[in-house]
Amino acid sequence: MSTLSIINPSTEEPIRTVEMLDVEHTDQAIARSAKVAPSWRAVNPADRARLLRRFSEVVDAHIEELAQLEVANSGHTIGNARWEAGNVRDVLAYYAGAPERHSGRQIPVAGGVDVTFYEPLGVVGIIVPWNFPMPIAGWGLGPALAAGNTVVLKPATLTPLTATRLAELALEAGIPEYVFQVLVGDGASVGYRFVTHEAVRKVCFTGSNEAGRKIMAGCAEQVKRVTLELGGKSANIIFADANLEKAAAMAPYAVFDNAGQDCCARSRILVEENAYERFMELFEVAVKGVKVLDPSNEESEMGPLITGAHRASVAAYVEEENVAFRGSAPQGRGFWFAPTVLETPDRASRAFNEEIFGPVVSVVRFRDESEALEIANDGPYGLSGSIWTRDIGKALRVARGVETGALSVNSNSSVRYSTPFGGYKQSGIGRELGPDALLGFSEEKNVFLSTEE
Ligand code: NAD
Repeated sequence: MSTLSIINPSTEEPIRTVEMLDVEHTDQAIARSAKVAPSWRAVNPADRARLLRRFSEVVDAHIEELAQLEVANSGHTIGNARWEAGNVRDVLAYYAGAPERHSGRQIPVAGGVDVTFYEPLGVVGIIVPWNFPMPIAGWGLGPALAAGNTVVLKPATLTPLTATRLAELALEAGIPEYVFQVLVGDGASVGYRFVTHEAVRKVCFTGSNEAGRKIMAGCAEQVKRVTLELGGKSANIIFADANLEKAAAMAPYAVFDNAGQDCCARSRILVEENAYERFMELFEVAVKGVKVLDPSNEESEMGPLITGAHRASVAAYVEEENVAFRGSAPQGRGFWFAPTVLETPDRASRAFNEEIFGPVVSVVRFRDESEALEIANDGPYGLSGSIWTRDIGKALRVARGVETGALSVNSNSSVRYSTPFGGYKQSGIGRELGPDALLGFSEEKNVFLSTEE
């Protein structure tokens, strides 16, 4: 078995060595998962609910430990990391309410009674990226287990520590052995085995478009169910009648949170032209006020990027002549990158069109509503976005016109466990979270019972 050294992105120091599994180990884990699947689906709904509630409580008792692990492994600020661990707890608690409410229907038909049942798929493979290791694991895990599936989950090789710990906590909570397994290994071998192995009935993938396309094509071979949560290049649309002070004060956190390593990052700011100068004045103050500090410092609002290679990829998007202003970042060890604001006259530039996945934002002007929509919708992605205006009619018109899955008005929040989340266009297929998440982890079976003599 090969090993992998896990590096703290704030210090560049190794923090732990983990074992990397191969395809043979993956096949063994999938076989174990398939073996326990019948007994897990047979656990009655109230007991499955109780087990998920207990899992949520055990996670709650370990929030600080999980958060500290994420700070060290991923460089997330301690405040964010506590929220992320709390999100796993909340998602498990929310879906603990689901097994007893996952009702089918009784449909009026001639000659008998017609009923539908929701049944588990079997083994579900969940593939997680490095940017939000805990929440994205939880978004797949909670509803998949609640619907009666067993789960094999592959974290990103850069950030496996919290997922591995969550699997231990599941056992501690009484979730039976092998119902939830975490497999640390490469995407192309361990992850792709979820696609090719016939016992895995669904792949739930979050990550890059490049890998997503391969996974979707691979799943087509077996007509395998697949959910994809991919990249984004979302717009923060600011109209002149908005509360500009609030929009500008919050805009840095809509793109620089998690150092911009966020699929929902509002990395294009669109400002109505008669408010542009005023917005930029306020925005500069706000960007320079972002506290980019050691992520374990309670005051820190932004930590480092994940690796040196990723920092080089982010830096390659920044052409000095387009830099309007920058925030600050620590010097010395760690993969730091200061928040950077570009004024991009050229809307065809790479920086304006590609997902940078770092703390770099482009600002452009627009003339009117229709131009704002044209710019916001220009590109292959459609994940999130914000609209700032005091005019409710305009807010709704623009919200209906932006081709993305998760929008907010006079706010930058995209994710709540109780509301659906997912992308339009090449940002993905399917929805996670919200009241209907179990439908993505169930087959619907129709049964007709004749009442004829
Ligand atoms: P990535 O695609 O490189 O890797 C994601 C995961 O897939 C990792 O666990 C990796 O090992 C695995 N993987 C890679 N190639 C694979 C293959 N051929 N078969 C099976 N598994 C494979 O992505 P990343 O760099 O870890 O994450 C960043 C990307 O994730 C960004 O594009 C970001 O926008 C996206 N993302 C999307 C959402 C969303 O909900 N839409 C959320 C977070 C991140």
